[in-house]
Amino acid sequence: MHVPELDKPAWTHCPNCAVGVGCNIYSKRPQSCQDFACVWLQVPDMGPDLKPNQCHVMFYRSDEWTMVANVDPDWPEAWRASNVISAAHRMANTLGDGWIVLVRVENRFWRIKDDTITPITS
Ligand code: SF4
Repeated sequence: MHVPELDKPAWTHCPNCAVGVGCNIYSKRPQSCQDFACVWLQVPDMGPDLKPNQCHVMFYRSDEWTMVANVDPDWPEAWRASNVISAAHRMANTLGDGWIVLVRVENRFWRIKDDTITPITS
């Protein structure tokens, strides 16, 4: 994720991240880090298999009407796992009119609807 306070662009590792351990400055992390919560943290019934460090996909709300399944670029096919794609379809089915559910692998996007997956080309 982009962290403006650190001037950290999206898709780059944070210099404060101890890989596999956590944040080296957790108690003093920037406000945008404190404010951010992925869907897995907010929805108790997502289950441990959908924890981002397990499934390599992190669902988050990118704006008022858009849910994004952000895929670890080191695991670009992770979103196709049955538990992940089922969660995406379930969101598309239940969030309601006006919502868009997307899968993102770096600069590639797919739109997820009730029972369809459509690549988005620019
Ligand atoms: S929580 Fe810590 S490791 Fe994660 S982006 Fe923020 S400063 Fe970096």
